[in-house]
Amino acid sequence: MENMKPRVRFAPSPTGPLHIGGVRTALYNYLFAKKNGGSFLLRIEDTDQTRFVPGAEEYIIEAFQWLGLKFDEGVGIGGEYGPYKQSERKPMYKPYAEQLVRDGWAYYAFDTPESLDAKRKEAEVQKKTFQYDASTRMSMVNSLTLSAEETEKRIASGEPFVVRFKYPADTDIHVHDLIRGEVVINSNLLDDKVLYKSDGMPTYHLANIVDDHTMKITHVIRGEEWLPSAPLHVMLYKAFGWEAPQFAHLPLLLKPDGNGKLSKRDGDRLGFPVFPLEWHDPKSGEVSSGYRETGYLPEAVVNMLALLGWNPGTEQEIFSLDELVNLFSLDKISKSGAKFSLDKAKWFNHEYIQMKSSKELMPYITKIMDEKGVAYEEDYLLKVIDLMKERLTFPGEFWEQAGFFFVAPTEYSAQDLKKRWKEGTGEKLRVIDELLRKDEVFDMQAAHDRVMEHIKANEWNMGAVLNSMRIGIVGCARGPELFTMINILGTDEVHKRTEAVINAVEGGDN
Ligand code: GLU
Repeated sequence: MENMKPRVRFAPSPTGPLHIGGVRTALYNYLFAKKNGGSFLLRIEDTDQTRFVPGAEEYIIEAFQWLGLKFDEGVGIGGEYGPYKQSERKPMYKPYAEQLVRDGWAYYAFDTPESLDAKRKEAEVQKKTFQYDASTRMSMVNSLTLSAEETEKRIASGEPFVVRFKYPADTDIHVHDLIRGEVVINSNLLDDKVLYKSDGMPTYHLANIVDDHTMKITHVIRGEEWLPSAPLHVMLYKAFGWEAPQFAHLPLLLKPDGNGKLSKRDGDRLGFPVFPLEWHDPKSGEVSSGYRETGYLPEAVVNMLALLGWNPGTEQEIFSLDELVNLFSLDKISKSGAKFSLDKAKWFNHEYIQMKSSKELMPYITKIMDEKGVAYEEDYLLKVIDLMKERLTFPGEFWEQAGFFFVAPTEYSAQDLKKRWKEGTGEKLRVIDELLRKDEVFDMQAAHDRVMEHIKANEWNMGAVLNSMRIGIVGCARGPELFTMINILGTDEVHKRTEAVINAVEGGDN
């Protein structure tokens, strides 16, 4: 196994939209595979049909397409170890369950839900919890307590059964985890987990191990919530006589305040998405926001997630996917949970927007323009994006910040007018407007100097006059540098807007 190229898998269950923590798990698998020249697989673990949600599998595939993380093998791609969807592998699992029973590592159990419930209640009375294990299994209805004939007869007659794992009593099980080191648990603390059911379906545990083995998975990199299952998995490899893959259990993604696991509800409560794409729940109709629809760039999401639980040990924060691949190693993953931060997420997005050329941002912006039903010329729009980009955290803010470049204001901020507009301002704005239009071809620097000189020579209140000019152009006293705006808008448009604001504030001039 040492010289083998690593093979890792992301193995989601299609029970709903993919949580952002799952995306991080997949990302770490991807980075590890690419760093080491290995393969990254997508396996869909859909053995629990009761939790199946329509659309979830498609959602998962679309999310990774958006993020730009490509699988080498798996559902939707194919490969030599397929099928990659567990429901399509169903017939494969039975012989493995039977092998475990034959070898004394598992047994058939016929206990009804009612009898198990009764056992639980009985234990509760004694302030204990019932566990199906070495201390109790010999008092239950299973192939260890029934004769071979009786067991066969029950199976042949179609009586429902499960196959349970038979832990050896009082045995220390060692899990070597690449992040956590050695984890030891005594088998007496573990219950005889169900591996297979008479309806022909394996449970997660059996299917997961059989698939990881038959798909030649070398490293299992998954969330910390699976650590409690790892001792069973280690034992299953032992029972089958297979070499186990290496395990790496990733730290949890925590709420912004660090108190517990990041949940869907935190996202709703604190106003950030916990899913990569918007999700429309097919049952309840409930809509959960997605990073994509909120205006995050996929590169920003990848960069942010990479650093939630891993860092290369330097101050650098911005990494391309290639850089991440180059630098990634499992030993730089932290043991403690990583706190999600909305400010940081936004910071990354702002940074990535700045790294995009205005041309690259065009598709995001033209979408907004089309939604607003506003016509535009491409060159003009590009100039506006050039100028306004630095103010954007999300492309969706473009209209609020830059709409005035396309539609003249019809209302003016009363507060700003009150502060800036003085007696005689209208007259002064007309003078400035004249000065702006003096050159045949607008020369921004010349116009700027001319206006400034005039203001100084006449001892006008510069802040009041220029901000009033701005109110006429933008609708309020904000926006980018005045002459840069005028340069883009053109003096004809500025003239119109100046007349309009004077009329609005001081009444008609005739
Ligand atoms: N199907 C499991 C999940 O939904 C996979 C866990 C594992 O990676 O072993 O996360």
